[in-house]
Amino acid sequence: MSDNGFFDNYGGKYVAEVLRRPLDELEVAFHEAMKDKAFLDELEVIRRDYIGRETPLYFAPTATKLLGGAQIYIKLEGLANTGAHKINNAIGQCLLAKRMGKKRIIAETGAGQHGLATAAACAKLGLDCTIYMGEVDVRRQQPNVAAMELYGAKVHPVTSGSRTLKDAVNEAMRDWAANPDTTHYVLGSALGPAPFPDIVREFQSVIGREVKKQAAERGIKIGAMVACVGGGSNSIGFFEPFINEKEPRLIGAEAGGIGPNVGENASRMTGNAARDGILQGYKSRFLLDEDGQALPTRSISAGLDYCGIGPQLAALGRSGRVEFTSILDKEALEAVQFFARNEGILFALESAHAGAAAMKLARQIPSDQAIIINMSGRGDKDVFITSPVFRPEEWLDFLHAEIERLESSTDIHNAKIMGERK
Ligand SMILES: *Cc1c(COP(=O)(O)O)cnc(C)c1O
Repeated sequence: MSDNGFFDNYGGKYVAEVLRRPLDELEVAFHEAMKDKAFLDELEVIRRDYIGRETPLYFAPTATKLLGGAQIYIKLEGLANTGAHKINNAIGQCLLAKRMGKKRIIAETGAGQHGLATAAACAKLGLDCTIYMGEVDVRRQQPNVAAMELYGAKVHPVTSGSRTLKDAVNEAMRDWAANPDTTHYVLGSALGPAPFPDIVREFQSVIGREVKKQAAERGIKIGAMVACVGGGSNSIGFFEPFINEKEPRLIGAEAGGIGPNVGENASRMTGNAARDGILQGYKSRFLLDEDGQALPTRSISAGLDYCGIGPQLAALGRSGRVEFTSILDKEALEAVQFFARNEGILFALESAHAGAAAMKLARQIPSDQAIIINMSGRGDKDVFITSPVFRPEEWLDFLHAEIERLESSTDIHNAKIMGERK
C-alpha cells in the first residue's frame, strides 16, 4: 500500500480542487469495501464464473527445451473473459462503484482494450457506460469500438489536442469533475492520482496471488517473473505478493519500439529521454522534453505506447527491486511466432515483450528454477497489425475482397433489416 498516496517520492494527487472530493470519497469507499465480506464474496464469485479464474499456470515444455535454461511457465491471463487482464480491474472498480451507489461509469481508452473491458463489466453489472476515446483512435481501432457498442457502451470521440489517449484522459477527468455524485471514473492502469495506483494494483494482484499458490502447490521454484509494462497494471498485480521478498527476480519489459532515439520507443525506465515529472495527476518517470511536455512515443503494441509509468513501479525501479529491460518491436514479433509455433499459444503483442525478455533471460537461470511469463492478453486482437507484417500481400487481398463483399453483399441488406427493426 502507498504511504498516503506516495511510493517513496513518486505518486501523489496533483489534481484541480474539484477532483479532490471524488478522489477522497473513492479512497474511503475502497478501504471500506476491502473489509466488507459481502463485497469480497461477490467479487470472488464473479472472478470464478464470469472472468474464468483461476487462469492456468502452463508449463511450456518445447520452449524450455529450445531455450536451454530455466523451466518456462506461462500465466495464461489471456484466457480471462474478454481476452486480457484488464477485466480484473474493470470488474473490481465497477463493483466498487455499485457499492458506492453510482449508476454511471466513465473510462478512457487508447487502443480500446480498457474500454472494452469496462464496457463488458458494465453490461454484466447493469451500469450505464460512456467511454472517452480520441477521434484518431476511434478510427484506427474499429474492432474494439464495435465490441464496446455491442456491450451497450456509448463511445465518445474526443476531438481536442492530438485526439488520442492523453486527450481522452483529460476529457474523462472533466466529466468526473462535473458529475461526481452519479459517476465513477474507472481508470485503466496502475497510475493517475491517488488512490488509483493502490486500487488498480489491489484488483490486479489476484494474478500474483494465484501464481504464488499454483507454484507452491506444484513445488515450482521461481527464479524470475517477467511482465510487460505499459502503465503497469498487469506487472504490478503479477509482482505484488513477491515485492517484499528478496526473491524471485522481478523484471519489467518496456516497449523499445524501433530504436533508442526520442520518438522511437516508450522506454520510461531505460530510455534516453526518461525523467521525473508530474503529468495527469501523479509524479513518476515520463518521457518528457526539457519544458516538461510529453514526448511522442512509439511501439508496435498499442497497450505499451504511453509516455508514463505507474508511480509504484517507478519507485521499485529506483530501489532496484524491479529490473527493467527494453524490447524492440522486432523481438516482440519474433516472440509471437516462437510461442505460437512451439506451444500453440498466441501472445498479444504487449505480452510478447515479456515473452521476448524471458527468451533472452532463459540461459541465465539454472534449469531447476522457473521463469514465469505473464501473458497479459491473447493475440487475436492483433491480426490487423501482425498480418500486414507476416503476410502483407495476402492481407491486402483480403481487405480488398472485404470491401467488394460489403459493397455488393447481403450484409448491407441485413443491416437494413436491423435498422427497420429498431
Ligand atoms: C493494456 C494492456 C497492457 C498494458 O497495460 P498495463 O497497465 O501495463 O498492464 C498489456 N497487455 C495487454 C494485453 C493490454 O491490453
